[in-house]
Amino acid sequence: MKAADIRSTFLNFFAQRGHQIVASSPVIPGDDPTLLFTNAGMNQFKDVFLGFDKRPYSRATTSQKCIRAGGKHNDLENVGYTARHHTFFEMLGNFSFGDYFKRDAITFAWELLTVHFGLPKEKLWATVYAEDDEAYGIWKDVIGVPPERIVRIGDNKGGRYLSDNFWMMGDTGPCGPCSEIFYDHGPDVAGGPPGSPDEDGDRYIEIWNNVFMQYNRDASGTLHPLPKPSVDTGMGLERIAAVLQHVHSNYEIDLFQNLLRAAQTAVQQAGGALPDMDQPSLKVIADHIRACSFIVADGVIPGNAGRGYVLRRIVRRAIRHGYKLGARQPFFHTLVDALAQEMGQAYPELVQQRQRIRDILGQEEERFFQTLDKGIELLDGALAQVQPGQALDGELAFRLHDTYGFPLDLTADVCRERGLTVDEAAFDAAMARQREQARAAGKFKMAQGLSFDGAPTTFHGYTALEREGCRVLGLFVD
Ligand code: ATP
Ligand code: MG
Ligand code: MG
Ligand code: MG
Repeated sequence: MKAADIRSTFLNFFAQRGHQIVASSPVIPGDDPTLLFTNAGMNQFKDVFLGFDKRPYSRATTSQKCIRAGGKHNDLENVGYTARHHTFFEMLGNFSFGDYFKRDAITFAWELLTVHFGLPKEKLWATVYAEDDEAYGIWKDVIGVPPERIVRIGDNKGGRYLSDNFWMMGDTGPCGPCSEIFYDHGPDVAGGPPGSPDEDGDRYIEIWNNVFMQYNRDASGTLHPLPKPSVDTGMGLERIAAVLQHVHSNYEIDLFQNLLRAAQTAVQQAGGALPDMDQPSLKVIADHIRACSFIVADGVIPGNAGRGYVLRRIVRRAIRHGYKLGARQPFFHTLVDALAQEMGQAYPELVQQRQRIRDILGQEEERFFQTLDKGIELLDGALAQVQPGQALDGELAFRLHDTYGFPLDLTADVCRERGLTVDEAAFDAAMARQREQARAAGKFKMAQGLSFDGAPTTFHGYTALEREGCRVLGLFVD
């Protein structure tokens, strides 16, 4: 089953069970200052759960564009390292707004997975929130899952569990106990079952989370009951596609294979050797072109603060991975064409804005390629001096950031590839010092009534120039 067929099968299954098919909301949340990017299907229904908004339907189903590259749910550091995390992914979801609750939610999920998708029951595991006897009983007695494959997961208090089965969108907002479904990819893959100390491996992969929305968490952490108990579920399209296409990694599914092939060609045309299809760097590039294109399509452009800076970081990270594979000129923006081809039918904005996205990413790429070479040279030189187990000098990481436009996470990514870390405290101190100096200089200029004549005689890298421009405007940016 191709990714596109899985998406439509999911939506139709729930439509046939009284759910309204609702379009994905943008990856930039409408008017929610608590969120950097849309991180789950329920975001667009937050006010419905809270009882502030009413819809003409009490059941809905969506395929939601999600970004997890900042804020509470941040998977940027996982991309290229795990088989299951992306910065952009599609979350398939079904929602009940005060309509059905635990029993129907679990029954629907089981029927879709085992009957319509035909998954072998013995490969599925369920987890429930430790105290949720009701959900436990449904799995055991209604569905008939043997108790050895139902795991109660607690509150993460002792730090033992990575997952705590109490889902929260962010630090505040709707939340509740959840029940997750895992698929066992078999003994060839490393990793333990959910709830075990090595659960973070890639053998037992979480495919579907069913959240029983019951509370609104306020800023003090207090839980207030929601007007009506509701259901919010999320299943990663790429993860279920991997299962249904009998592959282990998300990157092996149809949708990603085409993107990876396009990335191979693009890197090669930009000067690299033909990279291997399972090169982690190639996966990072294929992942990041999706995130960057959808973020630009929904209205953000690369910048020095907030969402624009997250976008800039993702673009530059991708470019650095291309550079690592040998690309010496812009290549990343050309992948927008392959992406539009692959996903344009489901998301027409990619087709409508194809040229615009290419141009915006292309400009960012041109800029970064001006300083990338020199920055990498500096970084490589410094890393050659770092002993195993030591950290890269934070002052140097700051110089790379300030002069060569290397976001800290990019530098950290390079270090991590060599088993090293960055002295982040020293980086932060250098950043704070520079801010202070700039503030003082700004005050001085204001007092003198001087305007900035902005005529640097040497090129220090565009980030330094941009920074100067921001100082003149009195803006302060990271
Ligand atoms: P994980 O534990 O694997 O990081 P999660 O518990 O953070 O996943 P949820 O917040 O429960 O994920 O999201 C619901 C579903 O969305 C998951 O069960 C998974 O199928 C999918 N999903 C979550 N994060 C990602 C990601 N970064 N890339 C792809 N799919 C994801
Ligand atoms: Mg996660
Ligand atoms: Mg999880
Ligand atoms: Mg989960």
